Amino acid sequence: MQSDDVGVYLHVPFCERVCPYCDFAVVAARPLTEDVEEAYVEALLAELARRQVDFGGRRLASIYLGGGTPSLLRPGSVEGLIDAVIGAFPPGEALEITLEVNPSTVERERLPGFRAAGVNRVSVGVQSFDDLTLKRLGRAHRGSEAHATLDACRRAGFDDLSLDLIFGAPEQSLEGLGRDLDAAIAFGPEHVSAYELTLEPDTPFAAAAARGRLARPAEETVVAMIEGVEARLGEAGYERYELSSYARPGRRARHNRRYWERRPVLGIGVGAFSNDPPTAAAPHGSRRSNPRALPRYLEAVAAGAPPAMEALSAETARGEAVFLALRTAEGLDAATFETEFGAAPRGFFAAEIDALAGADLLHEDPSGDLRLTPRGRLLSDSVFEHFV
Ligand code: SF4
Repeated sequence: MQSDDVGVYLHVPFCERVCPYCDFAVVAARPLTEDVEEAYVEALLAELARRQVDFGGRRLASIYLGGGTPSLLRPGSVEGLIDAVIGAFPPGEALEITLEVNPSTVERERLPGFRAAGVNRVSVGVQSFDDLTLKRLGRAHRGSEAHATLDACRRAGFDDLSLDLIFGAPEQSLEGLGRDLDAAIAFGPEHVSAYELTLEPDTPFAAAAARGRLARPAEETVVAMIEGVEARLGEAGYERYELSSYARPGRRARHNRRYWERRPVLGIGVGAFSNDPPTAAAPHGSRRSNPRALPRYLEAVAAGAPPAMEALSAETARGEAVFLALRTAEGLDAATFETEFGAAPRGFFAAEIDALAGADLLHEDPSGDLRLTPRGRLLSDSVFEHFV
């Protein structure tokens, strides 16, 4: 999609401990020493200084500090990073600056400092309010800490708050998820992200599942959970605007939307991905990716080595345009697709569209616009594989 702005993602890989289902680029670091923190922040700043030219002249729409656990950084480090990004790109109106926060005492105490540093949106990794579910997920916090962190966010002045929940956790029941949803709704966040637990290769959970040692809820329970999340949050006034994302009116996450809309994102840090804008040599844009191991990343930045680059072919870009847009409530706009690729979606994907529509997974408007049906939202992965 044509766009004259940029979102900047900064990845902070440090976590109190590595959760057994996580396959993000993370390292266990508790406590995070000042030396390690400073060396990493310096590397981020060096990478930003070198990479900003590829996005030159663009308006800054959003900054997202994700991880890992970026709230393990001291507020002064966060402020330095935000200032550097704002110095690199002229900020647009209503700049969204999000920080992911995990519930812990240290991070709670830093919330006023993060607010003063310019953060105006927090995404709190609650996952569950139930101690047993948190323990089975291998999380480092307890339910009471999640409540305390949410309250502390409000006291620190954050009026744009997203809350992450996981469902399909080991031994989790439909009733248990219901209690988590009740607690989330009672708190009243502006945004909720609700993710199904997935088994990623090479994680302790995947190994446990392979040995038959992970008691995941039955498939029909997970289906009931997906439907229950949408129904319960919908009744409470949250719109499901993307498969995992629910927002009160006017509170959709602007940075996250950039990925579904294929807008430019400069990703800085360990394992970070960038969506570079189109150029004459790469008319459909390109994807860049940094090393996933912290030592390799630090070496690459010190050596001035650029991230790996893959120019997107027209075929790859077309497939991505379809399945990323299908994640959203609005779906794929056929006219926008035609402007970029020279023909409507049916011009490239007639067989796939007919098969999926016949299976009640996809809805095609007379205009050619495409959207997932309710059944398609339940079975989205099997829809997307037709376009990858
Ligand atoms: S806190 Fe989040 S990023 Fe860190 S290990 Fe756990 S799931 Fe992964």
